[in-house]
Amino acid sequence: MAGSVETFEQYANVQINGITIDSRKIEAGQLFIPFKGERTDGHQYVADAIKQGAAAAFWQKDVPNPPENLPLIFVDDSLKAIQALAKSYLRQLNVKVVGITGSNGKTSTKDITTSLLSLKYKVQKTEGNYNNHLGLPLTVLGLEEDTDIAVLEMGMSGRGEIDFLSRLAEPDIAVITNIGESHMQDLGSREGIAEAKLEILNGLKDKGRFIYFGDELLLSSRMKNSKVDTKTFGMDHANDLYPLEINALENGSAFHINKIAAPFQLPVLGNHNILNALAAMLVAEYFDIPYEEMNKGLQSLKLTNMRMELVEGKSGVKIINDAYNASPTSMLAAIDVLKKLPGYDQKIAVLGDMLELGDKEESFHYQMGERLEDVDYVLTYGKLGSFIAEGAKTVLPADRVFAFFEKEPLIDKLVSYLNEETVVLVKASRGMKLEEIVKAIQ
Ligand code: ATP
Ligand code: MG
Repeated sequence: MAGSVETFEQYANVQINGITIDSRKIEAGQLFIPFKGERTDGHQYVADAIKQGAAAAFWQKDVPNPPENLPLIFVDDSLKAIQALAKSYLRQLNVKVVGITGSNGKTSTKDITTSLLSLKYKVQKTEGNYNNHLGLPLTVLGLEEDTDIAVLEMGMSGRGEIDFLSRLAEPDIAVITNIGESHMQDLGSREGIAEAKLEILNGLKDKGRFIYFGDELLLSSRMKNSKVDTKTFGMDHANDLYPLEINALENGSAFHINKIAAPFQLPVLGNHNILNALAAMLVAEYFDIPYEEMNKGLQSLKLTNMRMELVEGKSGVKIINDAYNASPTSMLAAIDVLKKLPGYDQKIAVLGDMLELGDKEESFHYQMGERLEDVDYVLTYGKLGSFIAEGAKTVLPADRVFAFFEKEPLIDKLVSYLNEETVVLVKASRGMKLEEIVKAIQ
């Protein structure tokens, strides 16, 4: 793979310890992987990376003028090389793999699963949202040799992507959290989305288990006559695991499950997170963690940022920061949380555009609005957001619903309502940057 025989021999004993794609964060001994980005080409940092301690670097063959006398590994394509490296590294490790996909709740389920499995095992998980054709291999290449279980998030924006990730990671357990409407634009229908998520079975190990949201007909009907070992979770009592006696708490939920009598407390908001927790519990069950111990695992949970975070703001207001992303399923889940949250006199929803929903986008937004009864004020942001306002006017007096197209007037209006008795939900697609509104009232 080296540039010439001489360089190969000179660097034959180079030991590589980890990899990085960011030349500013090099740690000694790492392999630096340069990418040809749209704006900058990582190859220009190769020499520098090695000066800073990188043991070696990839060099894509089509990039001219490789520096001489450096430990370079010449590759046809940096991305494909990382993927191949990850696959072969994973096969050398003695690690069990949990692969998690679904329209909503992947990251949350990954975090809860990790908390539960950590009761008994050394677990590593996808950091943040590194869930694609680059993030997943990078996560794999960051696995330590003594790790027992890797919990990997698998994201997609179109057909074939989960197939690729699943065949790379070859999970022992595959999880589908749910089927929503995200990526409708590319996949055409919920059926199309379900098919794309089910690609996770393509790489599932022979004796592997498939855990999925059994309330979703698109999944349960497909699995009816399948030979795959499956377990299901959901609200419906036909599932293997379901919750009972759910109570919304100020910062989470209390519930029971059908397996044992003892109660559970989940320190994150929303019934949707109970579903995510059930999925995680079925994973933990597979790894022989008794249900009696799982509540303890839930207590150490910390979700990745901006997902249903309850934070304090100006004038003592509480903010449910769900600005991370939005789709109709997740926005409905968040609205449900807002409506059920006990202990507040005034509830305000600040909602913005949900992007990439295809040609039904306006009606999706309008329908969100229709579900905002029991909310005191609705402030929307953006062009699509204004359809939420239209829908909201069918269930609320018009003087409690405001549509904005700029953030500043929205913030001014919002600030005028803030007090200790108020909770504000903030949610929209990532591109709308509603965290700026959260910041302004914090
Ligand atoms: P992404 O595709 O952006 O990686 P994700 O699938 O990882 O998203 P999370 O980050 O866990 O999902 O959650 C994003 C938002 O989706 C949450 O803040 C919440 O509003 C909503 N959500 C989480 N879990 C569920 C669920 N099981 N059902 C419906 N909505 C959910
Ligand atoms: Mg995610």
